[in-house]
Amino acid sequence: MITDLPLVARLALALDAVLSAPDPAAALDQLWPAHRRPPTPGLADQVAAAEREAHAVLVAEGPHIGSAGVKAPAWADVPPWLRSTYVLAAAQLMLGIGERCRHALTSTGPQPMWVAVWRPELLACRRCASSGVFRLPPGSDADRRCDGCGRVREGDLAPGRLQCGFMTVLYRSCADCRPSKGWA
Ligand SMILES: [Zn+2]
Ligand SMILES: [Zn+2]
Repeated sequence: MITDLPLVARLALALDAVLSAPDPAAALDQLWPAHRRPPTPGLADQVAAAEREAHAVLVAEGPHIGSAGVKAPAWADVPPWLRSTYVLAAAQLMLGIGERCRHALTSTGPQPMWVAVWRPELLACRRCASSGVFRLPPGSDADRRCDGCGRVREGDLAPGRLQCGFMTVLYRSCADCRPSKGWA
């Protein structure tokens, strides 16, 4: 029974359904009507600014991670192992659970956040994400493991990013698991 799942898992599934809907905005209105009346004046503008900043970081990082280009994927094209990290992190954020870097904990408004497939419980700000909170011991099995198939690979892992709203998921994938739609 789906109702036996913890709240965070149920919320994650609901968010996945919203993102999969033909009209995600309308699906969100139905799931969570209150979001149209944000309790804080200016919150919608702050969220939009955080989204723009997250996207700007993605665009700037593209050439450094060998990305073919930055393109918003259709949610249906995002592999399940990647979309599950995103919706679980978003659900944790909405419920105020999970681990946060100290800046994310003390932040007073929306800001871009990063999460890694290999460390899905931690949400970090840009400063912490770029200073290595997600770094794995170089050369370790964990560092050489594909986030898609879970196999330890020799040399063919490529870094990737999934940005949706103000949250970005970091991942590494082997040639077999790499999303093929040309997005970062
Ligand atoms: Zn931080
Ligand atoms: Zn793989």
